[in-house]
Amino acid sequence: MLQTALRFSHDLLKECVKPGDVVVDATMGNGHDTYFLRQLVGDTGFVYAFDIQEEALLSTQRRLEKDNLFNRVELIHQGHETIDNIFPTDTKLNAAVFNLGYLPRGDKSITTLSQTTLKALRFMLDKLADEGRIILVLYSGHDSGKVEKEDVLMFAEKLPQEEFSVLTYQFINQRNAPPSLLCIEKRKTQTKS
Ligand code: SAH
Repeated sequence: MLQTALRFSHDLLKECVKPGDVVVDATMGNGHDTYFLRQLVGDTGFVYAFDIQEEALLSTQRRLEKDNLFNRVELIHQGHETIDNIFPTDTKLNAAVFNLGYLPRGDKSITTLSQTTLKALRFMLDKLADEGRIILVLYSGHDSGKVEKEDVLMFAEKLPQEEFSVLTYQFINQRNAPPSLLCIEKRKTQTKS
């Protein structure tokens, strides 16, 4: 069976994240992606995870602690648009994931927004290691999600193809606007001869 965007996001991460890597979960939510990334980077890598809601940090911490994985992780109670103050200067980013929109069963008025999403995305693209990937799961089932999705796609389709490969993954015949996925991969720098 074809995978959902969410499942596919994990496969795309698994292919590019290895032990020792430095990665970002831009939207912690209930911590599934932070947990998954922490497993992939192992005891030598590092995960920076962001969320603006305290509940997200608490449930993520609990999830990690339960399996002794609450190390090699920093949970940051700030918007991902502040990443330029957090991320170490001389470090490359191997992968990042955004799961946009609002928390299911949470406060639907607290949602990611184009402007801040794009600010974080621009910074991360600058930091991205060769063959690193940034994955965004986009939701168009609510009005602000629709706008955000359009803005993100408009930005991504203009990225220079010599530097980045940009992929979308989306079911186009389903009724309930299932999430879609965007993956931006940094192409290996060509050494000039
Ligand atoms: N829509 C997804 C879940 C997304 S959760 C689903 O249905 O499964 C999105 C998370 O992003 C929420 O926990 C929210 O608090 C967080 N968030 C919103 N704005 C943010 C920002 N600027 N920086 C970091 N996290 C943010």
